[in-house]
Amino acid sequence: MGRQVADRGVVLRAGMNLVTGASPFALCISIDVERDYRLDESFTTRGIEEGLPPIVDLLRSREVPFDLFVSGEIADRLPTGLADRGVSIGCHGMRHPRGPRSYLNRMTQAGQRREISEATERVRTATGRTPVHFRAPNFSADARTIAILEELGYRVDSSVLPGRYVKRLRVLPLLDHRGAPAAPYHPDPRWIAREGGSTILEVPVSPNVLLPGGPLGLGFLNASGASNAIRATSECRSRCVVFLGHSWEMVDWSAADPVAPWVRKAASSRLGPLGIFLDHFSDSTYVNMDRILERETNHAGRG
Ligand SMILES: [Zn+2]
Repeated sequence: MGRQVADRGVVLRAGMNLVTGASPFALCISIDVERDYRLDESFTTRGIEEGLPPIVDLLRSREVPFDLFVSGEIADRLPTGLADRGVSIGCHGMRHPRGPRSYLNRMTQAGQRREISEATERVRTATGRTPVHFRAPNFSADARTIAILEELGYRVDSSVLPGRYVKRLRVLPLLDHRGAPAAPYHPDPRWIAREGGSTILEVPVSPNVLLPGGPLGLGFLNASGASNAIRATSECRSRCVVFLGHSWEMVDWSAADPVAPWVRKAASSRLGPLGIFLDHFSDSTYVNMDRILERETNHAGRG
């Protein structure tokens, strides 16, 4: 039996509820499958070809459900056999270059609609499944994105990172998710980071309490170790914790590779830390976006 009570600094056993023994939150491993994050702009997919398959095998061997949010531009490079049991298939937009060029909220509504429609089609062709979950490149969805997703038959958006605030040229606001709810909510049709009446369910990516402004996820696990990732996850204050991974975080980048120093730290082909992390939360409920949608729909029905 795991240690159930500990002071700060010592890891709590999966945030167990001491009264019922039940885990108070559901944990969702959510992976963005996209081009490698390189400084030289060449279009490579090492993460998808080399890094993703072993991680998928690890998750499957432990019967952990997960999401793959597939970027449209790489959909035809997906290894075969990924989209079967336990996997939620989502769409991660069409193009994913580094920086503001990929931001949906900088495009016109017609431009956004074109990007999302084309990506949806590519993901459907590659996986044989129609995606109903969406995550914008760089968390860049806005209220118009939500309206387009409604139009196209989507059910879930997972593009909000509560607390994220990005400025361009130091002053121009690019993204402002300050004050957004941490638990799933229906956004306001005028402002994505506020609760309102949209039919789309927003499932925020969980903020990292140990790294303000950043997501809780595989990059942090690789760079800071399993115990810190476990601590950051245990301290999430939401009934639904979304742990974000990227395909390019799943391979080793050498000093000669054209990637930023932080990417070299956040990326690793070692599976050990993720194994420790998954084991730690084995008493928790692992979910994927399909399951979250189901749970939240029932939850709302009861209320
Ligand atoms: Zn991405």
